[in-house]
Amino acid sequence: MAVSRDDALLMDVAQGGRCFYCGESVGAKATFDHLIPRAYGGADEPANVVLAHGRCNRRKGDRLPTPDEVDRLIRQRRGSRLGVWPPLVALRDAEPGEEWIAVARAIANLLPR
Ligand SMILES: [Zn+2]
Repeated sequence: MAVSRDDALLMDVAQGGRCFYCGESVGAKATFDHLIPRAYGGADEPANVVLAHGRCNRRKGDRLPTPDEVDRLIRQRRGSRLGVWPPLVALRDAEPGEEWIAVARAIANLLPR
């Protein structure tokens, strides 16, 4: 379920028209950033995607989001149908040093069996 134009509009509302990372106005220049990077199994769906400036997206690169960033997403998505991708919650609740394994386990739990 890729990100649709309607999803992008809902993200713009949820984020108050601001870049997820720097908090400055972003508008039409927004890019889609995958909070859990696609390179590490992050889903291309709205629950794992935020709007960010191209420069902020590039600066974030392939790191995992911080607990503060996951908390911010959860606050922004309260009452929104965009939702929060479950591996992000697993990441926030992971013990220090166990972040990657917590994410990998949570992604595996989403796979059909
Ligand atoms: Zn920015």
